[in-house]
Amino acid sequence: LTEHNARHLWHPMAHPADSLANLPDIIVEGEGVQIMDLDGHRTVDAVGGLWNVNLGYSCAPVKEAIRAQLDRLPYYSIFRGTTNDAVIELSVMLRDFFAPDGLSRAFFTSGGSDSVEIALRLARQYHKVRGDGGRVKYLSLKKGYHGTHTLGASVNGNANFRTQYEPLMPGCFHVPAPYPYRNPFNETDPERLAQLCLAALEDEIKFQAPETIAAFIMEPILGAGGVIPPHHSFMPGVRALCDKYGILLIADEVITAFGRTGSWSGSRHWGVKPDMMCTAKAITNGYFPFGAVMISDQVAEVFEGDTSGKGAIGSGYTYSGHPVGAAAAIACLRETQRLQVKDNAAARGTQLYEGLLKLQEAYPVIGDVRGGHGLMCALELVSDRGTKAPIDKKTIGAIHRTTYENGAMVRVSGNNIIMSPPLILTENDVTTILTALNAGFAAHG
Ligand code: PMP
Repeated sequence: LTEHNARHLWHPMAHPADSLANLPDIIVEGEGVQIMDLDGHRTVDAVGGLWNVNLGYSCAPVKEAIRAQLDRLPYYSIFRGTTNDAVIELSVMLRDFFAPDGLSRAFFTSGGSDSVEIALRLARQYHKVRGDGGRVKYLSLKKGYHGTHTLGASVNGNANFRTQYEPLMPGCFHVPAPYPYRNPFNETDPERLAQLCLAALEDEIKFQAPETIAAFIMEPILGAGGVIPPHHSFMPGVRALCDKYGILLIADEVITAFGRTGSWSGSRHWGVKPDMMCTAKAITNGYFPFGAVMISDQVAEVFEGDTSGKGAIGSGYTYSGHPVGAAAAIACLRETQRLQVKDNAAARGTQLYEGLLKLQEAYPVIGDVRGGHGLMCALELVSDRGTKAPIDKKTIGAIHRTTYENGAMVRVSGNNIIMSPPLILTENDVTTILTALNAGFAAHG
């Protein structure tokens, strides 16, 4: 397997040669919050699959729901006139789940990149249906991540995910993110920084001309960019600017929806109602590729009230509303609510964050600790706290490896170590993660 992994499998977001260079972590089993590799080594999965395995690896009701749906109806499309009963039931559940966010319609997709693509397309179409077809541009945050499709890549705020594929979609502009550790304003106070970033956003809106902008897309807490929670005034400030200038606000909640932030959605965490919300990942907990764009009444009514034909949706996937995915999502939603995982995410998230702050006191290599909003945490590693020069790849790789050997799988992204464990993890599991990290830093920090 190791040899075949190296020869025949290209790993997304990695250099093709890296599969040979990195020690392979071929995962063969998962149970609860633990994964086991080919050598029988068990670790707490502090990555939670890829931010998605919120309920762990042995969620019996989800497995049963998938089996039952496979036996009854493995597939039927929801194109045009046809539909399937599972996806209708799911739409109603999602309406109830997201009612506090003001979102009542669902457009189903096969994953996060698909959800982003659909939301960005619908935003342009929304303005066209209203006779405001000049609104075609998109704004987004530097360091934001919005998937790999061409529209999503165009709004991505990390050049690494864009430059190899340019020219991408014209009309996409990026504004500074409220990232206190590094920002163009040299402002470390989160509240003042939020105000500066909002002012920069308003400048950009005016510079681009508001009547040309379709939507602003943002993650309520930046995820892949290094887990960067904004000050609580930031997202409400964005909402206010979007309202002022007639711009739609798209919340990319592919990571943050369904409890990860300690709230049922990241937008709710900040008290904001977006016009559209992109979801995927934990909607099926990793058991099936699936996603949904949730749409507000106000946006939906523009499409539904259209009599000109412009409101007809020219986007969709063969697997939109897949009944097996829908059955998995229904079971996940039930378990997510029954177990009240958001409360555990909040409590364990605080424990993990406080433990990481203690590690920072011991190891100068930890330049910044981010978290405190549920189970999304990151350590930013530097070779020098004064200059904030990023740590070298070899050292962070060695810390990663020793942490793994000592019982926790974490994720390395640039000079960050990222953690997004299942939301069902226990106090002991958090201790395991912290102990394993401590071993990594003691050996190489
Ligand atoms: N948006 C965000 C915020 C994400 O974190 C991701 C994936 N990490 C995506 C979109 C893309 O989702 P997918 O990988 O399921 O296409």
